[in-house]
Amino acid sequence: MNLIILGPQGSGKGTQAKLLSEKFGLKHISTGELLRNEAESGSEKGKIIAKILTTGKLMPFETIVSVLEPALLSAISGFVLDGTPRDSQQAEYLNSFFKEKKIEIDKVILLEIPKEESLRRLGKRAEIEHRTDDTPIAINERLKIYEETTLPIIENYRSQGKLLVIDGTPDIQTIFNDIVSKLTIIK
Ligand code: AMP
Repeated sequence: MNLIILGPQGSGKGTQAKLLSEKFGLKHISTGELLRNEAESGSEKGKIIAKILTTGKLMPFETIVSVLEPALLSAISGFVLDGTPRDSQQAEYLNSFFKEKKIEIDKVILLEIPKEESLRRLGKRAEIEHRTDDTPIAINERLKIYEETTLPIIENYRSQGKLLVIDGTPDIQTIFNDIVSKLTIIK
């Protein structure tokens, strides 16, 4: 099974992707995490990534492809792709990449939460995790990009009948049960 999970910042995509990967034996591919790891490695590439991360802006397309392709190619038993695509260039790239590699996406899970809840959760996470992009300016930038750039491309998955819209406001286990039961009905 191959899944994509999308949603605004703070919607819990990372948490749900991890739970799904454990339950179904899938590889969890988080571009955000791959980028943070590269930034922490202190490599030349990592230093550039670290700077962009603090702004909350999208990473250049080539950077995303460079961390994503090896991860996708090594996910032989299926994957949960967390946080990509975020714009139309990435969506088109993924479409042709999957077509070429004969990879089928089963479902695109969209975790929905209101903007106020996003802001509340990110504020809380900032106190605990100290992520360099959980500052008020970067949070606003990331939510703006999500609304203006990412939401429109999600509509394509809806028209393909691949979108699974999930209420992201309840507790972690309730959300997870909801996703699993909807995936099971489909199968
Ligand atoms: P996330 O952990 O998914 O919230 O991602 C953290 C940051 O990594 C984002 O604010 C972007 O700067 C960058 N990032 C992650 N995934 C992508 C992507 N698919 N395209 C562009 N930038 C990304």
